Amino acid sequence: MGLSITILGSGSSGNAALVSDGATRILVDIGLSGRETARRLRECGLSPQQISAIVLSHEHGDHSRGLGPFARDLEIPVFVTDQALQASGLTLDPGRRQRIDSSVPFDINGILFTPFAVPHDARDPIGFTIERNGIKAAIVVDLGCLTNLVAERLRACDCIVLESNHDLRMLQVGPYPWALKQRVMSRLGHLSNDSVARYLANEFDGRARHVILAHLSKKNNLPELALESARRALEGRSALRSNQTRLELAKPDEVSRTYSY
Ligand SMILES: [Zn+2]
Ligand SMILES: [Zn+2]
Repeated sequence: MGLSITILGSGSSGNAALVSDGATRILVDIGLSGRETARRLRECGLSPQQISAIVLSHEHGDHSRGLGPFARDLEIPVFVTDQALQASGLTLDPGRRQRIDSSVPFDINGILFTPFAVPHDARDPIGFTIERNGIKAAIVVDLGCLTNLVAERLRACDCIVLESNHDLRMLQVGPYPWALKQRVMSRLGHLSNDSVARYLANEFDGRARHVILAHLSKKNNLPELALESARRALEGRSALRSNQTRLELAKPDEVSRTYSY
């Protein structure tokens, strides 16, 4: 096997993805409680003891909630930027903490992580491409807009996990207070279905076998709206082999199937 990705959960109630090459298993974010993370790993036939490392995208609770107890019990390395760790308020045993920089690639047992900055209202938030055995995947959630840098990093990926947080109209007429609506819509907030569609219609290179729409808002989006908007954008790209791309949804309360490459 080259590389596999399983989404353990995705959304404001908690984000975690399992990345594996068959020998090394890494959690990208751990926003579910330690107990819930263990339960979802068991659903995948794994025990927490089979996790080799945790990598953190940013400090927000829906990405880091389970970090303290989980990492403490397991004594495994945690790859996190200085700023994100500081902002999380968590303390990690110095022997276990692996300092990363938002623009410097790092390797975990042969799995290459290339972090890159994303626009989001956290301290030094990052997305990742992840490469192993000629396979490349990307996990990019929590970003207010899709910058040139992000579009560039999403090139030549076999699998893209990308936030499709809200439907703009549902957000505008929805229950959030005005200040929160402003935050979500801002360039440092979350990515809308429209932004994802614009990316798929204009910049996506058509290479990925799966584009997994993630971090959908329960209040400001519907799975069918996110899928329909992305599907329509892809339809206009038939010249780019985009008909080989399957659209998928990552759900908040369900472990996804395992995407293997
Ligand atoms: Zn966030
Ligand atoms: Zn989030």
